[in-house]
Amino acid sequence: MTTSYDVIVIGGGVIGSSIAFHLAKSKRSVLLVEKDRIGSQASKAAAGMLGAQAEIHEAGPFYEMANESRTLFPSIAEELKEYSGIDIGLVNKGLYKTAQMEEEEAELKRLIAFHNHEGQQAEWLEAEDLLKREPNLSKNVRGAMYLPNDGHVLPAELTAAFARSAAALGTEIKEFTEVTRFLQENGRIAGIETNHGVFYSENVVATSGVWTGKLLEQTGLDVPLYPVKGECFSVCFPIAPITATIISNGCYIVPKQRSRLIVGATMLNGQYDTTVSFKGIAGLMDAAKAILPSIESGIWEKAWAGLRPQTPDGLPILGEHPEIKGLYIAAGHFRNGIVLSPITGKWVAELIDGKRSKETLRLFRVDRFSKQPELR
Ligand SMILES: Cc1cc2nc3c(=O)[nH]c(=O)nc-3n(C[C@H](O)[C@H](O)[C@H](O)COP(=O)(O)OP(=O)(O)OC[C@H]3O[C@@H](n4cnc5c(N)ncnc54)[C@H](O)[C@@H]3O)c2cc1C
Repeated sequence: MTTSYDVIVIGGGVIGSSIAFHLAKSKRSVLLVEKDRIGSQASKAAAGMLGAQAEIHEAGPFYEMANESRTLFPSIAEELKEYSGIDIGLVNKGLYKTAQMEEEEAELKRLIAFHNHEGQQAEWLEAEDLLKREPNLSKNVRGAMYLPNDGHVLPAELTAAFARSAAALGTEIKEFTEVTRFLQENGRIAGIETNHGVFYSENVVATSGVWTGKLLEQTGLDVPLYPVKGECFSVCFPIAPITATIISNGCYIVPKQRSRLIVGATMLNGQYDTTVSFKGIAGLMDAAKAILPSIESGIWEKAWAGLRPQTPDGLPILGEHPEIKGLYIAAGHFRNGIVLSPITGKWVAELIDGKRSKETLRLFRVDRFSKQPELR
């Protein structure tokens, strides 16, 4: 049995699976270890929006990263289909962020000017034009910001496709394998200890979602990740009442394959459980009915919750540990892990391969929350 690899990736969410895939593509021998099943945590709970513009409203490297990652989806969808046979359900019909109040309209118009200034497409649609495109929306709507390039995918399928494609390229995947300890030798990573034995590598990537901070405690690095629980539900229709994603005050509604709508999501800080509350779902139902009254006629499918890995400054953590050479971290993608997964996988693989300088990831550096002043 092989116990030695070029790279070990800890955590089989969308981020770890994408990193494993990109490393396998660059001919590295990779072990991907997951304490449960691949894609069983946040990555399964997501709505799958590629909301680079809907979610990020500040100019700079993070906005650019998200927009660049979104552009990778058409090619990644094809590539993953080829390697894994899985269709990630990419839909490019855009997203409407609606306004019901005058102040919301003013804010959306401000955002449109911002996106256009940054060279991204965004336009205002008056109620009449919006209702021509989406006639089942509430007549109380004033209009919407239309983001034609914020599409969506199926997040569970995306995660599975990254992992299965990595496996097709030689990655070994061990599910139900929990990492308990890092092995170190002279200031460099040497491997991991798990509940199923010890595995060796000079490169380890900790990409364990909201649990990454806990795992790294033993290395002395402060990675203050915390969970923001999100609850969602889904309903089905004979014919879907909307064609594109709708975001309104209090919810979003994403039309998926087979006329299924996902409605999300609550934001509950600090909760590690994934139970679903009556209050959370009732609030989403009210918000969904206010913007799409006919959603009431849908057939109930299910409700679920997941833990978004958040950081104190809202930016992901990407880079090498300041004191342990070869130990990399990729975590804290909060509400954007699906849209950021292709670029995170690409960048981390390039970093490990020595094809990307750590300066390019400075904004996301791993030691920015610790007392240690500088990245090596
Ligand atoms: C309700 C909801 C809606 C969302 N909607 C969107 C959306 O529309 N668009 C978008 O871009 N993002 C969305 N997100 C965010 C997105 O889901 C996350 O950012 C992303 O899934 C994070 O991926 P991850 O791989 O870092 O974490 P996870 O998916 O949580 O994966 C981490 C994995 O590490 C494993 N692990 C932990 N500790 C260990 C250990 N010691 N040993 C081995 N394995 C370990 C866990 O079991 C887990 O499988 C949403 C999230 C939620 C909760």
